[in-house]
Amino acid sequence: MEILAYPRDAFPDRKILVQRIADSLEPDNRPSHAFLDSKDYSQDSSVSENFHSYAFQWDRSRPKDRVPAHVLDLMNDDQCSQLVWVSRKMLEEEEILFVFMLAHEFRHVYQVRRNLTHDAVRRKSRALWREPEFHLKLSSLPLDPPELDADIFALRTTRSIFGPEPMTQLIGRRNFPRCPDKLYTPFLLRLEEIV
Ligand SMILES: [Zn+2]
Repeated sequence: MEILAYPRDAFPDRKILVQRIADSLEPDNRPSHAFLDSKDYSQDSSVSENFHSYAFQWDRSRPKDRVPAHVLDLMNDDQCSQLVWVSRKMLEEEEILFVFMLAHEFRHVYQVRRNLTHDAVRRKSRALWREPEFHLKLSSLPLDPPELDADIFALRTTRSIFGPEPMTQLIGRRNFPRCPDKLYTPFLLRLEEIV
């Protein structure tokens, strides 16, 4: 895995952290490239919505339209088969949440490589969502099985790196950026127990 930044010398400490996390995971979680981008696209409507998110995983089956030139150069590189793009707002996040979101994206790399179908997550998350505690209270939005699978992996990875207590504290004081609904955390923790 090659870790690149824009500009080239930006985020030296986060590059080391990205490498450390990648090294701690199975090789199929590692994209060919990780790209740490210092540009802020929040006001730029000319770029794809992916660039307004915290991070995303890209592979050759995905489109390359409305991609900033410096990222497009990398996507057009033959060596770049799978890319994890990381936003400036994620790079500026506290370390434990950064690791959580990075592990989430690395899991998407694994899902693509292994062609995961997420049947168990799909079935169990739907059943759980129908329970009175969550039904009609938690939006159906977080139920996309690949996203749930990636969050469960991120939860386990972050817990194994930082320990259970810092992870419990994090989810006690922060909502997950991907799904800020306060019921999402208890939902995810319940789902983690049964998949
Ligand atoms: Zn995701």
